[in-house]
Formats: sequence, structure tokens, C-alpha cells
Amino acid sequence: MPLISIDIKAGTLAQPEKSAEKDLIVGIDLGTTNSLVAYIQPETREATAIKDAQGSNKLVPSVVHFTPGGGILVGNEAKKMLVEQPQNTIYSVKRLMGKSYTDVKQYAGFFGYKIIDDDTESLVKIKVNDRFYTPIELSALILTELKNRAEQALQQTVSKAVITVPAYFNDAQRQATRDAGKLAGLDVLRIVNEPTAASLAYGMGLNPNDERTIAVYDLGGGTFDISVLRIENGIFEVLSTNGDTFLGGDDFDRAIMNHWLQEHGLTPETLHHNKSLGQQLRLLAEEAKMALSATQTWQGMAGNLHCSLSRIQLETLIAPTVERTITCCRQALQDAGLTAEQIDEVVLVGGSTRVPMVKKAVETFFNRRPHDELNPDEVVALGAAVQADILAGNNKDMLLLDVTPLSLGIETMGGLMDVIIARNTKIPAKAGRQYTTHVDGQSDMRISVYQGERDLVKDNRKLGEFSLKGIPAMPAGLPKVEIAFIIDADGILQVKAKELRSGVAQSIEVTPQYGLTEEQMATMLLDSIQNAQADRQVRALQEAINEAETMAATAERFVTKNTEMLTPEEIDQTLLLVQDLRSVLESGNKDLIHQRIETLNNFTRPFAERIMDIAVAKAMKGAKI
Ligand code: ADP
Ligand code: MG
Repeated sequence: MPLISIDIKAGTLAQPEKSAEKDLIVGIDLGTTNSLVAYIQPETREATAIKDAQGSNKLVPSVVHFTPGGGILVGNEAKKMLVEQPQNTIYSVKRLMGKSYTDVKQYAGFFGYKIIDDDTESLVKIKVNDRFYTPIELSALILTELKNRAEQALQQTVSKAVITVPAYFNDAQRQATRDAGKLAGLDVLRIVNEPTAASLAYGMGLNPNDERTIAVYDLGGGTFDISVLRIENGIFEVLSTNGDTFLGGDDFDRAIMNHWLQEHGLTPETLHHNKSLGQQLRLLAEEAKMALSATQTWQGMAGNLHCSLSRIQLETLIAPTVERTITCCRQALQDAGLTAEQIDEVVLVGGSTRVPMVKKAVETFFNRRPHDELNPDEVVALGAAVQADILAGNNKDMLLLDVTPLSLGIETMGGLMDVIIARNTKIPAKAGRQYTTHVDGQSDMRISVYQGERDLVKDNRKLGEFSLKGIPAMPAGLPKVEIAFIIDADGILQVKAKELRSGVAQSIEVTPQYGLTEEQMATMLLDSIQNAQADRQVRALQEAINEAETMAATAERFVTKNTEMLTPEEIDQTLLLVQDLRSVLESGNKDLIHQRIETLNNFTRPFAERIMDIAVAKAMKGAKI
């Protein structure tokens, strides 16, 4: 049975930050290609990326290898096994986080390992030897490596972390990341958007009076993201995101490789027969690309093939890829409703932004020198460390907040959307509202949670549903069911329902399997604006119908309960008017419905008052004065 609203006392209240902890909290960038961990050095107060035991590498390749003997390698050692043992070597697991097989099947060929469709569960699994791993478990292995590294370097237990995710990650993907942290023995205090972290690393948004619009250009190994952020009152709002989940430094490497093959009169098919040459060429291509970020020419050997490349040649090879990123930037600005001139800062993120041509292209497009003072492949982890430090309570006047991108609410009678937390509300947030039943003796109440801006739930997106069961039998309208929405700092929603008279309670955590892309979100908002008038009319009509149904039921109950105090004419006429009212419910004419409600009301009011007086008089008789 659906619900009807009886008492509106909505209002959101920002909650205080999670209690401040004095111990160390690290910041982690869990990347598609590389991951790393950073912290704020207590003496220098500087964000610092933590190196491996040899003191050489900061980046941990996001690769996990399972040895035939049952051992597990993570990072550089695992990366070496990529070409030889692809079926036991897992890379790019971030692409699978929070995804179902349906989500990934069109690019399942991209992965060198086996992705499994498991009918009983909608989330993907990866098959290695004869064991199944979830992306969460595999990410947890990478996180464990980072945790161990930090513990070794800092000589203390590390059990708390802030982890970053792309701005477009949906609830399911965020929850999966959080679970991976938990599995690695980390208490994940906050999930932070990567572009937000990058801005923080540059100190942007740290001053509560900061008001800036920032473009974060992130070109990594296999993905490209452009995000437009607005900082105001310590709140980071994502104005738009764009990008390509299959565009990055790997494309540069591939272009170089193909160029060399062509130079030597070879075809990509050659590599199918000679895997080791393929591996060498790929590694060499990456080496050449990286070297050419600093020098003008490069040469080396792959087997007996002599390979050389100049920066100019490289630029010709990668120009089309770079141009594609700029097209995304143009789209992101358009979606944010901004021009390049309105961007105050541009931040470079991702190892591939070390390529001078990429930097130049970004500078030309935004007509502004982008920030590249910090290492682009470290900047996200450094920013996560800054956020961690704030949560640790070391930066008292700072409160970082995000906002809900779409309204959240529940379905009420007639399929109406009843918004409980409005769009753009600062999170964490909490809001509640009371509802009641509309049928006598109703013992179950179905609570369906939706996200969106339209007046009818059918036009919005369903996030989840649950039932409040075991409400003791009461007349319609008597139960008081309080529904509370609580969104934590990561945007994860918890919905609680409680019948206040009996104390029956139930709750769910809403972690939808399929989130929304920014694009879908924009479409939903646009739809709501375009349909606003039609929606309002539908809502007004539905509200009239709801009111009429309640009124008719109340009037009927009233005459059956008070038969002896009413004249036969009063009873007959009331029932007739109830019938009249019910006959126009389907008319689609809200004014007509209101008219009949009014007529019924006017007719019953005098004797309703009379009966009330009798009741009061009766009560008075027994009362002592
Ligand atoms: P992700 O965010 O995808 O995990 P990173 O930000 O670490 O990845 O970027 C990895 C990519 O950066 C790889 O393609 C790597 O080859 C590239 N890269 C790293 N250093 C350089 C460099 N000096 N010049 C050009 N590309 C580089
Ligand atoms: Mg990255």
C-alpha cells in the first residue's frame, strides 16, 4: 500500500564532521593504472607520497598477479607478468568496480583475463585459476600493498584512510571502493572525488572564503577525465564532467608501437606469433614516450629491431588523441554553461600530462597556464592526504562538503514523488517527514525510494524499496510513520522508517547497482524543467484525487459510526454525495473534484459539529468541576 503524507516537517540539517581523530590518516589514490599512498609529514606539514622499501618508486602499478604456486604479487612485480601470463595477471580492475556483467560485456575483450557472468549475483567476478575474485577483493590486495608500504615507511600502524574515486563514480562504485578498503583493514573515513583532491593538493578551497571555478584535466594511462568544479563556502560542487574511459597514455604507446612496426615492414599480426617482441615493443614505446617528455630524440633496441623516435614524430602520432581530449573539454564547458574565460584555474593530473604537447594543448584551449608544479601522477594522492589531515582535526577551520546532485524522495499515493532531500543539499544531511496509512487495518507499508526532479515517480529513477511490516491494526490515518533520510559524507543514503505509536521500525541502505552518468543526470534535470508545467498539473490532479478519497472514506465511516444520532435523510444524502464525489474521480477535472469535495463538506459540517457537541457534553457530564 502506498503512503499519504500527513505532516510536513522537512528540513535538512548539516551534521558535524565525523569525530576528530588524532592518529594518522593516509590519503590513497586507487588508480586504474597506478596507485599510491601519501600523508602529511608532521614536521614539515607537507603532503608527501610514500616510497617503496628501496626508496625508489612512489607509484604502485595497479596490477595483481597470481603465481601458479598460489602466491600473490602486487605492483611492479605483477606488471612484469602482464604479457606472459595475462590470464593470471589482473590490471584495470578499477574499470570493473561496482559493475555488472551487462555493464562491461561490450568491452570484455579489452581484458586479458576472464570476467564471469554469475546469474545469482549481478556484480562481475574474475576467474583466476579455479578461484573467483570480485573487483573489491582485487582492489583490496592493492590497498593492502599500499597499507603495508605506509606502515613500513612510517613505522606505525595505519588503519585509517581517505580514498579517491573519479567524480562520475556512482553510489555502487563508491560503495565498492569503500568495501575494498574495509577488506584491506582500512577504516575509510571518506571517499573523495579525484578532481577535488587534485584541487586541494594545490591549496584551492582551503580558505572558506575561496570562490573559484576550476577545470581539472586528468589524462592517465587508460582514461581521460575533465571535471569542472566550483568552490564556494568550502563546498566543492561538480558542475560537469566529461571524458573517455578508453583514452590515455596507452593510446600513445600503441601509436608509437604501430609506427615502429610499420617502419620495419611488420604488421600487428606479427606480434600474435611473437608475444615477447610485442611486450618489448610496448615497454620500449612507453620508455620512448616518457623520455621524449624531457628530450627531443630517443633510440633503443627491441630484440634486433632498432627503434628511434623524435619528439616531433611523437607529436604527429598522438595529435588525434590529444585533440579528442580537447573535444571533451569543450563539451564539459558547454555542459557547465561556462566559457574558457570563466575558468579561474586549470589543474593537470595524470602521468600523461607530462607530455609537453598535452600541456600546450590544454594551455591553448583554456588560454591560461595550467598548474603543473606538483607531480601530476601524485597530485591526487597528495590531495587525499590533505583531506585526511583535515579529517584528523589538524586543520580546524576547514569543513569539506559536497552536495546531492539530484533530489531524493519516496513514492506517495497516486505515484507522486515526495521529495525529502532536495537537490543541491549539502551533505552529510538528514531529513524526515511523517506519513500515515490510507486503508483501515493496513499492516504493511511499502517504501519506494526515488531519485530525480519530476513530480511523478515513474519519470524518476528508483533506488530501492522496502516494506515496513507488522504495523498493528489501526484505522486509516492513525499510524504515524516517520521516514528519515540520512546521507553520509560519501553520498550513501540510508532510509529509516518507524511507526511511532508501536515502535515498529525498518531501514535500508540504498546502494544502487547502476548509478547515473553526469550526462543522464543532466538529461533528468532538463526533462524536469521542460515538463514542469505538465508535471504540476498532474500533481494537482492527483492531490485532488487523494484528498477526495480520504474525504469519501471519512464521511462513510462517520455515518456508520453515528447512525443513531443522524436522521435517515442526513445519512442518505451523505452517501449520495460520497457517490457523486467518487463518480468524478476519473474525470481528470481537478476543479470538478474540488467542487464535489466542497459540497460534501458543506453538507456534513453542521451535523458533524452537532455530534461533536454531544460528545463534548457527554464528556463534561462525567467530569468533576
Ligand atoms: P592512472 O590515473 O590511470 O592510474 P597515471 O596518472 O599514473 O595513471 O598515468 C599513467 C600514464 O602516465 C601511463 O600511460 C604512463 O606511461 C604515463 N606517463 C608517466 N610518466 C610520463 C612521462 N614522463 N611522459 C609521458 N607519459 C608519462
Ligand atoms: Mg589517476
